[in-house]
Amino acid sequence: MGGGAAGIAAACAAARSGVETLLIERFGFLGGTLTAVTLGGFCGTHAIVDDSRLARVVGGLYLDLEDRLRKRNAVSDPVRHGRILGVPYDSVCLKLVADEMVAAQGVTALLHTHVVGVRREGDRVDAVIVENKGGRAAICPRVVVDCSGDGDVAAFAGAEYALGDDGRTQAGSTMFRLAGVDTKIAGSLTRPQIRELLERAVSEGYPLPRTATGVHVNPIEGVVHLNVTRLGRPDGSTYDLTNPQDLTEAERVGRAQAFVYEEVFRRYVPGFERARIVDIGAMVGIRETRLVKGEEVLTEEAVRNCVKPKSRIACTSWPLETHQGGRGTTWEFLPDGDYYGIPYGCLVVRGLENVFVAGRNLSATHAAQASARVAGPCFAMGEAAGIAAAMAARGNVRSRDVPIGELQRDLERQGAILTPAL
Ligand SMILES: Cc1cc2nc3c(=O)[nH]c(=O)nc-3n(C[C@H](O)[C@H](O)[C@H](O)COP(=O)(O)OP(=O)(O)OC[C@H]3O[C@@H](n4cnc5c(N)ncnc54)[C@H](O)[C@@H]3O)c2cc1C
Repeated sequence: MGGGAAGIAAACAAARSGVETLLIERFGFLGGTLTAVTLGGFCGTHAIVDDSRLARVVGGLYLDLEDRLRKRNAVSDPVRHGRILGVPYDSVCLKLVADEMVAAQGVTALLHTHVVGVRREGDRVDAVIVENKGGRAAICPRVVVDCSGDGDVAAFAGAEYALGDDGRTQAGSTMFRLAGVDTKIAGSLTRPQIRELLERAVSEGYPLPRTATGVHVNPIEGVVHLNVTRLGRPDGSTYDLTNPQDLTEAERVGRAQAFVYEEVFRRYVPGFERARIVDIGAMVGIRETRLVKGEEVLTEEAVRNCVKPKSRIACTSWPLETHQGGRGTTWEFLPDGDYYGIPYGCLVVRGLENVFVAGRNLSATHAAQASARVAGPCFAMGEAAGIAAAMAARGNVRSRDVPIGELQRDLERQGAILTPAL
């Protein structure tokens, strides 16, 4: 359940493996953070080698998505921002392409449907309770892949989880797009240059919570998206974005911040003189909520040391990118041209026999999730969880007993990357 990066990939992979697959999504479109929040670049998909060459670290179904976007002129070549890199895409077109992609694999999608509970029988979730315009219903799956981003199914079933680091999560951000931008000028600004301009605005009285940002040029002419707001309480603590009151407050605060930034960019940043907000994400961007406890836990040491476990089902080289406290963002880069692997056990929910997690709610420490949460590895984890779920359903085996070697062979056969060609 959940139709974001992980959920799209999980559903497509499961259906491709030949099992009946239902994808449940609360919004009227797929894409999750990538569409609902209006992002503009896929991250974590490539490694930068020798500061010059790019090597893909995510393949498989992500490439299918990229190809479909390319056919619609809705994705551009990777763009570097210093030591990081994003693949710009149009978030509106992604909604259409995601529909096409799941339909092509034979997934049944059920939109406008909210998962609100589960029924647990022993160590199995034997029903998922949903609510939609049709009322309340129970769906009885053999296996569930929880790609809600918030670990909803796992939490409803009583699985253990951590809310960030003892309640301290990464700050969320309201995302917005500006049109009427001279993207030639705006796109040539470096992050330090933008930071200096925004710091000047702060010194002249604008209450900006964050000044560290880059400009993400959209494939649509004159449009950029900005990832610059920062959501948190006045005392500096972060919201719990699984709490409805906090979520409501975050939406209100984030929208107000977006319009302050519009004014500041128009006044201070070259290329933005005539810029106007054309859309704000349908919901606040959530970087982190529940981290579900799995059979294994991805740790920051494993990320920093580029550990490549034998049981890995996904790879990335994205840095540890932390949005917390102050007006900056902390980046801890991996060694040039290296990557780490996410072990299978990070998808297997501890204590439940038929529930997987994939995406930003994987089993990881707060610090490690700061890297694994970006779109590239979320697609890759989803694809692995989808194949594993199909294997578990077909073979009638527990999630932790899925033969990992067979799963890895299937992933590689389908173009997933477990050993990047660096
Ligand atoms: C502000 C911000 C900026 C970011 N910028 C980038 C970037 O530039 N590049 C990048 O690669 N990554 C970026 N990320 C991170 C990345 O986009 C996300 O972490 C990733 O896309 C998460 O994918 P996911 O599938 O795990 O979860 P989500 O995208 O959160 O998807 C979860 C899906 O489940 C659905 N859902 C949730 N609960 C329920 C329920 N109870 N019932 C039914 N459906 C439900 C949601 O509607 C959603 O569609 C950013 C994140 C944020 C917050």
